[in-house]
Amino acid sequence: MPGGTDQTLRPFLWRAEKLYPDTEIVSRTHQGIERYTYSEYSDRTAQLANAMDEAGVPDDARVATFCWNHNRHFETYFGIPTTGRQLHLINPLLPDEHIQFIVDDADDHLIFVDPSLLEKLEGAADGASEFDGVEQFVVIGDSVPETDLEPVTDYESFIEGNDTDYDWPTLSEDRPAGMCYTSGTTGKPKGVEYTHQMLWSHTMASQSPQGIPMDDTDVVMPVVPMFHVNAWGMPFSATAGGAKHVYPGPSPEPEDLAHLIEEEGVTITAGVPTVWLGLMEYMEDNEVDLSALDTLIVGGSAAPEAMIRFFDDHDVELLHAWGMSEMSPIGSVSHLKGGLEDLDYDTQVEKRGKQGLIAPGLEFKVIDDDGNEIDWDGEDFGELYVRGPWVTQEYFKRPEANREDYEDGWLKTGDIVSVDQDGYLKIVDRAKDVIKSGGEWISSVELENELMAHDDVAEATVIGVPHERWQERPVAFVVPGEGIDADQLEADLRDLIGEEYPKWWMPDEFITIDEVPKTATGKFDKKVLRDEYADQSLVEGQVPEDASPGED
Ligand code: AMP
Repeated sequence: MPGGTDQTLRPFLWRAEKLYPDTEIVSRTHQGIERYTYSEYSDRTAQLANAMDEAGVPDDARVATFCWNHNRHFETYFGIPTTGRQLHLINPLLPDEHIQFIVDDADDHLIFVDPSLLEKLEGAADGASEFDGVEQFVVIGDSVPETDLEPVTDYESFIEGNDTDYDWPTLSEDRPAGMCYTSGTTGKPKGVEYTHQMLWSHTMASQSPQGIPMDDTDVVMPVVPMFHVNAWGMPFSATAGGAKHVYPGPSPEPEDLAHLIEEEGVTITAGVPTVWLGLMEYMEDNEVDLSALDTLIVGGSAAPEAMIRFFDDHDVELLHAWGMSEMSPIGSVSHLKGGLEDLDYDTQVEKRGKQGLIAPGLEFKVIDDDGNEIDWDGEDFGELYVRGPWVTQEYFKRPEANREDYEDGWLKTGDIVSVDQDGYLKIVDRAKDVIKSGGEWISSVELENELMAHDDVAEATVIGVPHERWQERPVAFVVPGEGIDADQLEADLRDLIGEEYPKWWMPDEFITIDEVPKTATGKFDKKVLRDEYADQSLVEGQVPEDASPGED
């Protein structure tokens, strides 16, 4: 017999509001710390829902955000999907061309934008017909700065005066609730839609003991941007558990994170390794009290073992997690399996440094080059395939991407993994031709195309090289045309990339070579270059400080 209602997001907020009306939601802003309770949060989400009705936003529209991590962004997390509309989180760190494509492809009706990101959005929207479908812009805050975007209003005026009650509709669990775009190897970003059912099941699995559980004694601070796969689902899980929320606001520095952890008593926080390397460096010279902190979630790129040891020494459990935009995003978490507590410490750290145990509710298989499933011996490797209730079944409007990335209901992750006897997944390589720098994707193919389009370039290729702070950075290999001066060419190419792409896409080095190595079929053989450069990790100092994805 079917249950009484579908699996939707609404009950999570309903419960938090009823059981924990006084629990706080805290946000760092340019003006200082803002705090209010679930009760006020709930009133404001109802006001937001009423405001969208009032503004004539269709009840099945896609509504976008272009924002950092703060309480008002969190208001859109429930305020938009629980009305039946779809919350589209746009990554503001993308090149303008990608943003234009995404806004057009998603057909966004309204965009909420942070004042500090207004200039970036204006730049992307400037003369771009892709923005023609956007009916309204709402700037977060209580006033509208000088802007070319129109029609425009500020967030507080938008919701002000609206009723704090809303007649929340009964929704089908198949209704799209969220959306993000993921940067593909080639071509345009691909849209991933999250239905209510996917977000509900992801939340419940996260709440299981082998996920990343959060309850009413927790203080949860997502540092992972809210424009990345719903901040790994933490705003939903924290609400489901009735936890206190802490949002670190725009571009938080390690010092800001340290203060929030100390002053708000953060018990669970999450982000990419680059963020925690920053905190570790800060702690070399500064006393930071981590006594409240129980769990640090590290994902998006591999957590270094030294990081696990560092936080163990400070009595904080580092939980290494792996996931993808297509998986809402959690796929595996590296808990120490029951029975392994007696292993020596080094072996335990080695296990915890792997990408972990598949989350309860998902299935996986690993297929080698010959199309066979690998042995679970920690040595064999192949491509990881996954399926489950919160794994998307297709890309938005992209049948050709569906054919490449899905097979009989399985998502082909593009991650090359081994599996040990205990079932721990370990990523050993990546089949997709993309570079992940500080948690953000750089398309090597797109950079290559840009370089190759230059008249003085005979051949060019771009690879990702390991980097201690950013995990990977791009390095370009260029074959100059006949009689071309390599130094002048490098200067021209730097100008070219600098004009078209955000600063952090700029390759750290341009290396002149005579020929790009080729495979037997004549394709660029990046593996040869990667092997050659794998041991030559780039060191700090080679990347300008302002190459941070957060700074562009
Ligand atoms: P995204 O869709 O942007 O979330 O990126 C997903 C991809 O990031 C995965 O397919 C992996 O290649 C990489 N990734 C995510 N988590 C980890 C991790 N813990 N270790 C290594 N790579 C990771």
